[in-house]
Amino acid sequence: MTSLADCWAMDAQDPLAALRERFVLPDAMIYLDGNSLGALPKATEARVRDVIAAQWGKDLIKSWNQHDWIGLPRRVGAKIAALIGARPHEVVVADSTSLNVFKALHAALSLRPGRRVILSDEGNFPTDLYMAQGLAELLDDKHELIVVPPEGIADALNDDVAVLMLTEIDYRTGRKHDMKALTAAAHAAGALTIWDLAHSAGAFPVDLNGSDADFAVGCGYKYLNGGPGAPAFIFIAERWQQAASQPLFGWMGHDAPFAFDLDYRPRQGPGESIDRFLVGTPPILSLAALEAGLDQFAGVDMAEVRRKSIALGDLFIALVEQELAGHGLTLASPRDGNRRGSQVSFRHPEGYPIMQALIARGVVGDFRAPDILRFGFTPLYVRYQDVWEAVQRLRVVMVEQDWQRPEYRRRAAVT
Ligand SMILES: *Cc1c(COP(=O)(O)O)cnc(C)c1O
Repeated sequence: MTSLADCWAMDAQDPLAALRERFVLPDAMIYLDGNSLGALPKATEARVRDVIAAQWGKDLIKSWNQHDWIGLPRRVGAKIAALIGARPHEVVVADSTSLNVFKALHAALSLRPGRRVILSDEGNFPTDLYMAQGLAELLDDKHELIVVPPEGIADALNDDVAVLMLTEIDYRTGRKHDMKALTAAAHAAGALTIWDLAHSAGAFPVDLNGSDADFAVGCGYKYLNGGPGAPAFIFIAERWQQAASQPLFGWMGHDAPFAFDLDYRPRQGPGESIDRFLVGTPPILSLAALEAGLDQFAGVDMAEVRRKSIALGDLFIALVEQELAGHGLTLASPRDGNRRGSQVSFRHPEGYPIMQALIARGVVGDFRAPDILRFGFTPLYVRYQDVWEAVQRLRVVMVEQDWQRPEYRRRAAVT
């Protein structure tokens, strides 16, 4: 049996406990959705206000040089690189994750001419698959997207596969792929890899170069705490940077944007050509907020973040099974913490109204169709005592059957 006193003891011994102070967290709310929208760092408001008032307001267009706005996509990219096992010049911040999937996929396909197949799995996030379908249509349906169950990937790799495109963490179940092993399997078949790190970057240590990854993309607004709609990132391994091309020829990707040439020529040069993955003018206010989010990782040991993430997830599973036996909740995530991301999901046929009732009681997780209750554990600001309290409130929802109330069945636009 695990008690509340045990949770307090775990908090008292937590080497990351002080980081919680860096975030704005509403008193009455237990926030278990940092995997969808990271919490607001206390530093962000002042940082963005400074860019607005002192830079935009005072220096106007001079700021592009004076405050190096033009260098922000690379500067912020380098901070992300440190979290994902990349070199500083291998990552740039631009656009949305969806668009970066499109650009990376085009680059990878053009490096594997003659191969037809884009291979992915059923655990991938729909937008990644949609982008692949759209690109295949644009390329006159010469390519085919094949989607297999996660355990069928190795068998589906053959000499017709151009790209293996996977999301490392299944957004529904939290199942974690073995990036290194699957990248090696793809390479053995002659294919390239694209890893979507939406639920990885900032959640645990990622080692792209140690895994020999080719391309990667990821979100700024989840574990990186960059704010709603924060720009995304794209990683291109150094060895592909001179050869890789993407189809959205924008002036920010040009070799000399301010020469205003009539013809496109992608950015050249060692350590520079990642910039060809830029398209248009960078969103400076959003980049400033994302940079403030990334600054919260300064001095943070990601191995410690991983240890705590697994411990929080293990505690949640143990407490749900201890306190809520017989209520029809079944674990949808791997029980082994090493095979999970930083979330735990349970299935229940009434998952949607149960989550709405739980949110009404101040515990914010989310619901993913058809029956998944999803709880994200962000080690920078979630405490062990929060896990205890969340499970107690979930127990009240189940025992008192709050979720039967009709208002909890009404589907909102965003779930
Ligand atoms: C959240 C998420 C996205 C979101 O893409 P946007 O373009 O930012 O909307 C993409 N892929 C995965 C795997 C995600 O989890």
